Amino acid sequence: MSSKWTYRHGLVTRARFIPKRSDSHELTMTPVSSQDVARVAFHSHHNNWHYDLLMLDHLKANNRVWAARRVAADADFFKRLDRQQAPEYLWIGCSDSRVPANEIVDLAPGELFVHRNVANLAPPQDANYLSVLQYAVDALKVKHVIVVGHYGCGGVSAAMSGTHLSLVEHWLFPIREVAHLHRDELEAISDQHARLNRLCELNVIRQVKNVTSALTVGDAWARGQELRIHGWIYSLGSGLVTDLEVTTERPEDIARLASA
Ligand code: ZN
Repeated sequence: MSSKWTYRHGLVTRARFIPKRSDSHELTMTPVSSQDVARVAFHSHHNNWHYDLLMLDHLKANNRVWAARRVAADADFFKRLDRQQAPEYLWIGCSDSRVPANEIVDLAPGELFVHRNVANLAPPQDANYLSVLQYAVDALKVKHVIVVGHYGCGGVSAAMSGTHLSLVEHWLFPIREVAHLHRDELEAISDQHARLNRLCELNVIRQVKNVTSALTVGDAWARGQELRIHGWIYSLGSGLVTDLEVTTERPEDIARLASA
């Protein structure tokens, strides 16, 4: 049994449903997956509230209210978005749930192209990020790429603690390189949180340098396309972003980031 989710006109729809009540008599096994948990919960269907939570009905209800509110304010909102997207900005941010891209800058659907990963990295060998960048610059013609880090980033912290082995540590390795490059400055900061936060800033600056060095960006500038790369840092405690003032808008600007 599986379910497939689709998004259209602002509404989330599940294409296939779990078995009808008459099918549930066969399910007396020990749950081995989230679907099985839902089926077993359905089997004891007297507990409807539990079933609703397992099947995320509260999120589906939220979605309907949200879509209705959008349509009430602007009847053609989703019809317009269905035809095209024309965002001016690409946001490269951390996956952290406390750093919701659109919300922080109060932009509506269609206004911000978003790429998020652990610790807002833009590694030159990462096909995922590079594809997003290429599509944003070449197809959508965004005017700004904004790398947005945040203070207290768990990814940056984990990169330095060395307690996360395997894949995550591999992903976070570029941050260790940044820390090594700036070890004198970082070691001079006695407060542990202040040191982590400075590394969060340095990490953003390095990612701005990476994006600035990307072939996609160089090609765009070579053909005269207007494009700026920015580095921001977000404070979880205040909800405010700070511009790190490392904006680049032409290839020569990379020289200012040479030490990043
Ligand atoms: Zn983070």
